[in-house]
Amino acid sequence: MSGVTLDRLTKEFPGGVRALDGLSLSIMDGEFFALLGPSGCGKTTLLRTIAGLESPTSGAVHIGSRDVTRLAPGVRDVAMVFQDYALFPHMTVQDNIAYPLRIRRQPRADRTQRAAEVAAQLGLAGLLPRRPAELSGGQQQRTALARAVAGRPSVFLFDEPLSNLDARLRLDARTFIKRLQRQLAVTTVFVTHDQAEALALADRIAVMDAGRISQLGTAREVFRRPANTFVANFIGSTPMNLLPGEVRGDRVAVAGAVLPGPVGLAGQHGLDDGAPVMVGIRPEYLPVSAGRATGTDSGASFTGEVSIVENLGTSSLVTVDVGGELISGTVPEGEEPEPGTRVWLSPAPGRVLVYRTEDGTLVG
Ligand code: ATP
Repeated sequence: MSGVTLDRLTKEFPGGVRALDGLSLSIMDGEFFALLGPSGCGKTTLLRTIAGLESPTSGAVHIGSRDVTRLAPGVRDVAMVFQDYALFPHMTVQDNIAYPLRIRRQPRADRTQRAAEVAAQLGLAGLLPRRPAELSGGQQQRTALARAVAGRPSVFLFDEPLSNLDARLRLDARTFIKRLQRQLAVTTVFVTHDQAEALALADRIAVMDAGRISQLGTAREVFRRPANTFVANFIGSTPMNLLPGEVRGDRVAVAGAVLPGPVGLAGQHGLDDGAPVMVGIRPEYLPVSAGRATGTDSGASFTGEVSIVENLGTSSLVTVDVGGELISGTVPEGEEPEPGTRVWLSPAPGRVLVYRTEDGTLVG
């Protein structure tokens, strides 16, 4: 098994589109790694460059200790699972699964045995004689996975393999892939534009923007402390509140409140008193209450009128008009305030993030 190292990869397509822009990255042996980002940021190009289906304009790809930059896909020891599964329609499930062994010219008996073994592992044992058209979407997806597993590759490359499944099946398949990856401990690079999927599956996530990595970290790091306003806007099932504010000593003045900022905000981080900043607070860290909690630092809460209440299941998202600024917080299920009532939003301690206005980077 092997890690994957990318060294200053650039890919320019004819016509001048720079899909990868000097990107460097080290993916560890056995790691489940997600590439996450909006459409067009270069995720698929990066995956195809690791697979050898695209060649970089400059830079290098290593798998384990081998420089594979100029090697053909077939000798890189990787298996790719595509969004549309790319199963051979005229072949049975058995032949599809055994395909990587056939191109390596392994004896028929070995291929049959390995296909049966992998099919059993992936819950496809009864389906071996069928053709892809006779399978459900979920079964086709597992056949594509089984084909990837059969060849015992060093690296799995997954390009949005769950996006053609319906919502329920997608959750089951997600758990299944995670369990399988843990069992096999094969280095896995998983492309998705669905941040919930990346947060649920990956050991580490790279959030990409315009051919570069905007932030690299664990799911928790990326969710709790987005490194810039691009990641802050992109990550989270509810958008982060990003509000214009101003430095006041170690605090920030924002929407009529004065909130505790990161330690040593003024001075230490090159921000003078009065400097304009962007203040980021996730709705999940901004509880809404009908009254100001007793003993709270009274200036450290926003107050305004409830504008909209949206049901999120076990909690509700409450959007409040705070002097013309719309700020969202959350309440537990069953405690929703009525639209038009006055409420207070008090950030959880340590959850106020401050970003520089000039380049959107996190302070502290
Ligand atoms: P999506 O989530 O929509 O699949 P992505 O993040 O995977 O997007 P890529 O498919 O890697 O993005 O594309 C990155 C950029 O490169 C885009 O601007 C795209 O238009 C461009 N691009 C991709 N393939 C080619 C190609 N063969 N020729 C020219 N430009 C291309």
